[in-house]
Amino acid sequence: MEPHLSVWQETMRIQIGSLSEGTHQYHFEADAADISLGEEFRKPVAVDATLDKTGKQLFLRVQVRTTGVFSCDRCTVPFELALTPEYRMHYVTDETDAESLDPSEVQVVPAGLPIIDLSDDVRQTVLLAVPLKLLCRRDCRGLCPRCGKDLNTGPCSCPVEEGDGRWDQLRALRPGEN
Ligand SMILES: [Zn+2]
Ligand SMILES: [Zn+2]
Repeated sequence: MEPHLSVWQETMRIQIGSLSEGTHQYHFEADAADISLGEEFRKPVAVDATLDKTGKQLFLRVQVRTTGVFSCDRCTVPFELALTPEYRMHYVTDETDAESLDPSEVQVVPAGLPIIDLSDDVRQTVLLAVPLKLLCRRDCRGLCPRCGKDLNTGPCSCPVEEGDGRWDQLRALRPGEN
């Protein structure tokens, strides 16, 4: 019998109760809200999962794709950020089988479990993929600390004073005018 290929489901659940040995592939697509992601995530969360069943052991490899909307830490302008994190998970029924595996990649589940639900792991994987420093672009110039103008849209008219970082930049650009 052919394994299921690219099963399209809205809930991130895999029936494992009567799964045959071998490799099975799944595609899930859900609203971010359905897996309890915050309001930064308004686009669907797509998941490609490959599940290998060998004896009692299940090994799952997951590729997640989604997009979040965040405010830039420097200029506060909202920007879209595509996230494509991956994770791997072993599902074992015996504690001793878990000992040789990376603790972050193994879950001990009851024997005879009918379904594994990927939602929690997918949500955590997406949240961990959000960078600590959120910049709309690497060289974002941010806001002027005095007038608040977005310096990505051009310079502001605040006076450039000694001790201001911008003064050093000007000096570097125009050494003859000092
Ligand atoms: Zn920015
Ligand atoms: Zn200014």
